[in-house]
Amino acid sequence: MAAAQEQSGSAKAVSKGETNDQPNMEIRKVGLVVHGGAGTISRSEMTPQREREYRAGLERAMTAGYEILKRGGSSLDAAEAAVRMLEDDPHFNAGKGAVFTSIGTNEMDAAVMDGKTLSAGAVASLKHIKNPVSLARLVMEKSGHVMMDGEGAEAFAKENGVQVLPDQKYFFTQERWEALQKVKAAEKSGGGGKKYIITDQDRHGTVGAVALDQNGNFAAATSTGGTTNKRAGRVGDSPVIGAGTYANNATCAVSATGDGEYFVRATVAHDVSALMEYRGMSLTEAAQSVLDKVAKLGGSGGLIAIDRQGNIALPFNTSGMYRGYVDPNGKFVVEIYK
Ligand code: ASP
Repeated sequence: MAAAQEQSGSAKAVSKGETNDQPNMEIRKVGLVVHGGAGTISRSEMTPQREREYRAGLERAMTAGYEILKRGGSSLDAAEAAVRMLEDDPHFNAGKGAVFTSIGTNEMDAAVMDGKTLSAGAVASLKHIKNPVSLARLVMEKSGHVMMDGEGAEAFAKENGVQVLPDQKYFFTQERWEALQKVKAAEKSGGGGKKYIITDQDRHGTVGAVALDQNGNFAAATSTGGTTNKRAGRVGDSPVIGAGTYANNATCAVSATGDGEYFVRATVAHDVSALMEYRGMSLTEAAQSVLDKVAKLGGSGGLIAIDRQGNIALPFNTSGMYRGYVDPNGKFVVEIYK
Protein backbone atom coordinates (compact mmCIF):
# COMPACT_ATOMS: atom_id res chain seq x y z
CA MET A 1 0.00 0.00 0.00
CA ALA A 2 1.30 3.42 -0.86
CA ALA A 3 2.27 5.69 1.97
CA ALA A 4 -0.51 8.00 3.00
CA GLN A 5 1.06 11.38 2.76
CA GLU A 6 -0.60 14.25 4.45
CA GLN A 7 0.57 17.75 3.78
CA SER A 8 -0.42 20.56 6.08
CA GLY A 9 1.44 23.81 5.65
CA SER A 10 5.03 22.85 5.83
CA ALA A 11 4.33 19.84 8.01
CA LYS A 12 4.32 16.48 6.37
CA ALA A 13 3.19 13.18 7.78
CA VAL A 14 3.88 9.79 6.38
CA SER A 15 1.72 7.07 7.76
CA LYS A 16 3.42 3.74 7.77
CA GLY A 17 3.03 0.29 9.07
CA GLU A 18 0.87 -1.60 6.61
CA THR A 19 3.51 -1.78 3.95
CA ASN A 20 5.03 -5.17 3.69
CA ASP A 21 6.68 -6.68 0.65
CA GLN A 22 6.34 -10.18 2.04
CA PRO A 23 2.78 -10.36 3.38
CA ASN A 24 3.34 -13.35 5.62
CA MET A 25 6.22 -11.88 7.48
CA GLU A 26 5.85 -9.92 10.65
CA ILE A 27 5.29 -6.24 9.97
CA ARG A 28 8.28 -4.33 11.13
CA LYS A 29 7.65 -0.78 12.19
CA VAL A 30 10.83 1.16 12.33
CA GLY A 31 11.27 4.77 11.50
CA LEU A 32 14.07 7.25 11.02
CA VAL A 33 14.15 10.96 10.26
CA VAL A 34 17.24 13.17 10.09
CA HIS A 35 17.86 16.88 9.64
CA GLY A 36 20.86 18.99 8.79
CA GLY A 37 19.52 22.36 9.86
CA ALA A 38 16.87 24.83 8.77
CA GLY A 39 17.43 28.27 7.32
CA THR A 40 17.45 30.49 4.29
CA ILE A 41 18.59 28.00 1.72
CA SER A 42 18.35 29.71 -1.64
CA ARG A 43 18.40 27.72 -4.84
CA SER A 44 20.40 30.47 -6.51
CA GLU A 45 23.32 29.95 -4.12
CA MET A 46 23.22 26.18 -4.42
CA THR A 47 25.26 24.58 -7.18
CA PRO A 48 24.21 21.13 -8.40
CA GLN A 49 27.48 19.78 -7.02
CA ARG A 50 26.85 21.25 -3.58
CA GLU A 51 23.32 19.99 -3.52
CA ARG A 52 24.56 16.50 -4.35
CA GLU A 53 27.01 16.69 -1.47
CA TYR A 54 24.32 17.69 1.01
CA ARG A 55 22.01 14.97 -0.23
CA ALA A 56 24.77 12.39 -0.06
CA GLY A 57 25.56 13.48 3.51
CA LEU A 58 21.96 13.03 4.61
CA GLU A 59 21.77 9.66 2.86
CA ARG A 60 24.93 8.45 4.55
CA ALA A 61 23.42 9.39 7.90
CA MET A 62 20.20 7.56 7.08
CA THR A 63 22.07 4.50 5.93
CA ALA A 64 24.04 4.40 9.17
CA GLY A 65 20.88 4.66 11.27
CA TYR A 66 18.61 2.49 9.16
CA GLU A 67 21.04 -0.43 8.96
CA ILE A 68 20.92 -0.59 12.75
CA LEU A 69 17.13 -0.42 12.90
CA LYS A 70 16.66 -3.03 10.18
CA ARG A 71 18.70 -5.59 12.01
CA GLY A 72 16.75 -5.02 15.21
CA GLY A 73 19.11 -2.55 16.86
CA SER A 74 17.97 0.16 19.24
CA SER A 75 16.64 3.57 18.29
CA LEU A 76 19.32 5.06 20.51
CA ASP A 77 22.10 3.39 18.54
CA ALA A 78 20.46 4.41 15.27
CA ALA A 79 19.97 8.06 16.21
CA GLU A 80 23.51 8.30 17.54
CA ALA A 81 25.00 6.66 14.42
CA ALA A 82 23.08 8.97 12.10
CA VAL A 83 24.14 12.08 14.00
CA ARG A 84 27.78 10.95 14.13
CA MET A 85 27.79 10.75 10.33
CA LEU A 86 26.50 14.30 10.09
CA GLU A 87 29.03 15.49 12.68
CA ASP A 88 31.82 14.03 10.56
CA ASP A 89 30.52 15.76 7.42
CA PRO A 90 31.98 19.29 7.07
CA HIS A 91 28.85 20.51 5.26
CA PHE A 92 26.86 20.51 8.47
CA ASN A 93 27.21 22.70 11.52
CA ALA A 94 28.16 20.05 14.07
CA GLY A 95 31.47 18.39 14.85
CA LYS A 96 33.73 18.98 11.81
CA GLY A 97 32.32 22.09 10.15
CA ALA A 98 30.95 23.67 13.33
CA VAL A 99 30.44 27.44 13.12
CA PHE A 100 32.73 29.91 14.89
CA THR A 101 32.08 31.97 18.00
CA SER A 102 32.78 35.71 18.03
CA ILE A 103 36.28 34.99 19.32
CA GLY A 104 37.04 32.46 16.58
CA THR A 105 36.62 29.26 18.58
CA ASN A 106 34.28 26.32 17.97
CA GLU A 107 31.98 25.43 20.86
CA MET A 108 29.71 22.46 20.40
CA ASP A 109 26.54 21.27 22.12
CA ALA A 110 24.70 17.94 21.83
CA ALA A 111 22.06 15.81 23.50
CA VAL A 112 20.44 12.39 23.36
CA MET A 113 17.28 11.09 24.95
CA ASP A 114 15.94 7.59 25.39
CA GLY A 115 12.15 7.53 25.11
CA LYS A 116 11.78 4.26 26.99
CA THR A 117 13.41 5.31 30.26
CA LEU A 118 13.31 9.10 29.81
CA SER A 119 17.05 9.01 30.42
CA ALA A 120 18.90 11.88 28.84
CA GLY A 121 22.43 13.10 28.39
CA ALA A 122 23.70 16.46 27.19
CA VAL A 123 26.97 18.31 26.69
CA ALA A 124 27.64 21.98 26.07
CA SER A 125 30.53 24.21 25.09
CA LEU A 126 32.81 21.37 24.03
CA LYS A 127 35.96 22.40 22.21
CA HIS A 128 37.97 19.25 21.67
CA ILE A 129 35.57 16.35 21.11
CA LYS A 130 35.04 15.05 17.57
CA ASN A 131 31.64 13.51 18.20
CA PRO A 132 29.76 15.44 20.86
CA VAL A 133 26.65 13.24 20.46
CA SER A 134 28.56 10.21 21.69
CA LEU A 135 29.83 12.10 24.70
CA ALA A 136 26.24 13.14 25.43
CA ARG A 137 25.32 9.47 25.41
CA LEU A 138 28.21 8.66 27.73
CA VAL A 139 27.03 11.38 30.10
CA MET A 140 23.60 9.74 30.06
CA GLU A 141 24.94 6.26 30.67
CA LYS A 142 27.92 6.76 32.93
CA SER A 143 28.05 10.13 34.68
CA GLY A 144 25.02 10.04 36.92
CA HIS A 145 24.19 13.49 35.54
CA VAL A 146 22.12 14.78 32.67
CA MET A 147 24.19 17.73 31.48
CA MET A 148 27.89 18.54 31.58
CA ASP A 149 29.80 21.38 29.98
CA GLY A 150 33.24 22.61 28.96
CA GLU A 151 36.35 21.41 30.70
CA GLY A 152 34.50 19.19 33.14
CA ALA A 153 32.77 17.36 30.32
CA GLU A 154 36.05 16.95 28.46
CA ALA A 155 37.78 15.65 31.59
CA PHE A 156 34.96 13.14 31.97
CA ALA A 157 35.47 12.16 28.30
CA LYS A 158 39.16 11.57 28.87
CA GLU A 159 38.54 9.48 31.98
CA ASN A 160 36.30 7.27 29.87
CA GLY A 161 38.74 6.78 27.04
CA VAL A 162 37.20 9.27 24.62
CA GLN A 163 39.77 11.10 22.50
CA VAL A 164 40.22 14.73 23.52
CA LEU A 165 41.87 16.66 20.67
CA PRO A 166 44.91 18.81 21.57
CA ASP A 167 43.59 21.83 19.64
CA GLN A 168 40.69 22.94 17.43
CA LYS A 169 42.26 22.49 13.97
CA TYR A 170 40.10 19.48 13.17
CA PHE A 171 36.91 21.59 13.26
CA PHE A 172 38.12 24.32 10.90
CA THR A 173 36.39 24.86 7.56
CA GLN A 174 37.09 27.83 5.31
CA GLU A 175 33.41 28.33 4.62
CA ARG A 176 32.46 28.70 8.27
CA TRP A 177 35.42 30.99 8.85
CA GLU A 178 34.30 33.23 6.02
CA ALA A 179 30.77 33.21 7.39
CA LEU A 180 32.12 34.59 10.66
CA GLN A 181 33.98 37.35 8.81
CA LYS A 182 30.80 38.19 6.90
CA VAL A 183 28.71 38.41 10.04
CA LYS A 184 31.34 40.53 11.76
CA ALA A 185 31.57 42.87 8.78
CA ALA A 186 27.79 43.19 8.71
CA GLU A 187 27.79 43.97 12.41
CA LYS A 188 30.37 46.71 11.88
CA SER A 189 28.48 48.24 9.00
CA GLY A 190 25.42 48.66 11.20
CA GLY A 191 23.81 45.26 11.33
CA GLY A 192 23.56 43.88 7.85
CA GLY A 193 23.74 46.71 5.33
CA LYS A 194 23.23 45.88 1.69
CA LYS A 195 26.85 44.95 1.18
CA TYR A 196 26.69 41.74 3.12
CA ILE A 197 23.78 39.43 2.86
CA ILE A 198 23.72 37.30 5.92
CA THR A 199 21.69 34.24 5.25
CA ASP A 200 20.61 31.91 8.03
CA GLN A 201 22.97 29.52 6.33
CA ASP A 202 25.82 31.75 7.44
CA ARG A 203 24.49 31.88 10.97
CA HIS A 204 23.51 28.42 11.99
CA GLY A 205 22.79 24.80 11.00
CA THR A 206 22.59 21.89 13.47
CA VAL A 207 21.97 18.19 12.86
CA GLY A 208 19.60 15.73 14.44
CA ALA A 209 17.88 12.36 14.20
CA VAL A 210 14.78 10.74 15.64
CA ALA A 211 14.23 6.99 15.48
CA LEU A 212 11.66 4.34 16.32
CA ASP A 213 12.94 0.78 16.66
CA GLN A 214 11.35 -2.66 16.37
CA ASN A 215 10.66 -2.75 20.09
CA GLY A 216 8.65 0.44 19.88
CA ASN A 217 11.29 2.56 21.57
CA PHE A 218 12.04 6.13 20.61
CA ALA A 219 15.26 8.08 20.69
CA ALA A 220 16.22 11.61 19.73
CA ALA A 221 19.68 13.07 19.19
CA THR A 222 20.81 16.58 18.27
CA SER A 223 24.26 18.11 17.76
CA THR A 224 25.35 21.62 16.85
CA GLY A 225 28.11 24.17 16.67
CA GLY A 226 25.46 26.73 17.64
CA THR A 227 25.18 30.04 15.82
CA THR A 228 27.93 31.94 13.99
CA ASN A 229 29.38 34.79 16.03
CA LYS A 230 27.69 33.62 19.24
CA ARG A 231 29.39 34.72 22.42
CA ALA A 232 31.82 32.23 23.92
CA GLY A 233 29.86 30.34 26.53
CA ARG A 234 26.49 30.78 24.82
CA VAL A 235 24.44 27.59 24.88
CA GLY A 236 21.46 27.11 22.55
CA ASP A 237 18.44 24.83 22.57
CA SER A 238 20.04 21.68 21.13
CA PRO A 239 21.44 20.29 24.39
CA VAL A 240 18.53 21.52 26.51
CA ILE A 241 16.28 18.53 27.13
CA GLY A 242 12.74 19.53 26.25
CA ALA A 243 13.84 22.43 24.05
CA GLY A 244 15.97 21.08 21.18
CA THR A 245 15.74 17.40 22.03
CA TYR A 246 13.08 15.16 23.58
CA ALA A 247 11.86 11.56 23.38
CA ASN A 248 9.07 9.83 25.25
CA ASN A 249 7.70 6.40 24.34
CA ALA A 250 4.23 7.62 25.32
CA THR A 251 4.20 10.20 22.56
CA CYS A 252 7.03 10.99 20.16
CA ALA A 253 10.68 11.86 19.60
CA VAL A 254 11.73 15.36 18.51
CA SER A 255 14.91 17.09 17.36
CA ALA A 256 14.80 20.80 16.57
CA THR A 257 16.84 23.35 14.67
CA GLY A 258 16.60 27.10 14.46
CA ASP A 259 17.05 30.23 16.56
CA GLY A 260 18.02 28.50 19.76
CA GLU A 261 17.00 31.27 22.12
CA TYR A 262 13.41 31.10 20.87
CA PHE A 263 13.35 27.32 20.92
CA VAL A 264 14.44 27.35 24.56
CA ARG A 265 11.82 29.92 25.50
CA ALA A 266 9.11 27.94 23.72
CA THR A 267 10.31 24.60 25.18
CA VAL A 268 9.72 23.25 21.70
CA ALA A 269 10.52 19.55 21.84
CA HIS A 270 8.67 18.82 25.08
CA ASP A 271 5.75 20.96 24.02
CA VAL A 272 5.16 18.76 20.96
CA SER A 273 5.04 15.75 23.26
CA ALA A 274 2.85 17.53 25.83
CA LEU A 275 0.27 18.59 23.25
CA MET A 276 -0.02 14.97 22.18
CA GLU A 277 -0.14 13.61 25.70
CA TYR A 278 -2.43 16.14 27.36
CA ARG A 279 -4.44 17.49 24.45
CA GLY A 280 -4.60 14.39 22.31
CA MET A 281 -3.26 16.22 19.27
CA SER A 282 -1.81 14.34 16.32
CA LEU A 283 1.92 14.59 15.75
CA THR A 284 1.42 16.86 12.74
CA GLU A 285 -0.91 19.21 14.62
CA ALA A 286 1.31 19.35 17.68
CA ALA A 287 4.50 19.96 15.70
CA GLN A 288 2.97 22.72 13.60
CA SER A 289 1.31 24.38 16.57
CA VAL A 290 4.58 24.55 18.50
CA LEU A 291 6.42 25.94 15.52
CA ASP A 292 3.71 28.59 15.18
CA LYS A 293 4.38 29.51 18.79
CA VAL A 294 8.08 29.95 17.98
CA ALA A 295 7.19 32.14 14.99
CA LYS A 296 4.94 34.31 17.18
CA LEU A 297 7.89 34.96 19.47
CA GLY A 298 9.90 35.96 16.40
CA GLY A 299 11.95 32.82 15.92
CA SER A 300 12.52 30.71 12.84
CA GLY A 301 13.57 27.14 12.28
CA GLY A 302 12.09 23.68 12.13
CA LEU A 303 11.91 20.29 13.73
CA ILE A 304 11.68 16.61 12.93
CA ALA A 305 9.43 14.26 14.89
CA ILE A 306 8.10 10.71 14.81
CA ASP A 307 5.20 9.09 16.68
CA ARG A 308 4.29 5.56 17.72
CA GLN A 309 2.60 4.70 14.46
CA GLY A 310 5.67 5.81 12.56
CA ASN A 311 3.98 9.02 11.39
CA ILE A 312 6.51 11.73 10.85
CA ALA A 313 6.37 15.51 10.85
CA LEU A 314 9.00 17.84 9.45
CA PRO A 315 7.63 21.37 9.70
CA PHE A 316 9.81 24.46 9.25
CA ASN A 317 9.16 28.16 8.76
CA THR A 318 12.32 28.97 6.85
CA SER A 319 12.87 28.64 3.11
CA GLY A 320 14.49 25.28 3.53
CA MET A 321 15.54 22.54 5.89
CA TYR A 322 17.99 19.76 5.05
CA ARG A 323 15.98 16.68 5.89
CA GLY A 324 15.53 13.04 5.09
CA TYR A 325 13.38 10.13 6.12
CA VAL A 326 12.94 6.49 5.34
CA ASP A 327 9.51 5.94 3.77
CA PRO A 328 7.31 2.92 4.54
CA ASN A 329 8.87 0.99 1.66
CA GLY A 330 12.33 1.51 3.05
CA LYS A 331 13.10 4.14 0.41
CA PHE A 332 15.21 7.14 1.39
CA VAL A 333 13.60 10.50 0.76
CA VAL A 334 15.80 13.60 0.95
CA GLU A 335 14.46 17.12 0.66
CA ILE A 336 15.99 20.56 1.01
CA TYR A 337 13.52 23.24 -0.06
CA LYS A 338 9.88 23.87 0.77
N1 ASP B 1 19.46 25.67 17.33
C1 ASP B 1 20.87 25.86 17.19
C2 ASP B 1 21.35 26.77 18.27
O1 ASP B 1 20.70 27.77 18.52
C3 ASP B 1 21.24 26.42 15.87
C4 ASP B 1 20.53 25.87 14.69
O2 ASP B 1 19.78 24.93 14.79
O3 ASP B 1 20.72 26.37 13.60
O4 ASP B 1 22.39 26.55 18.82
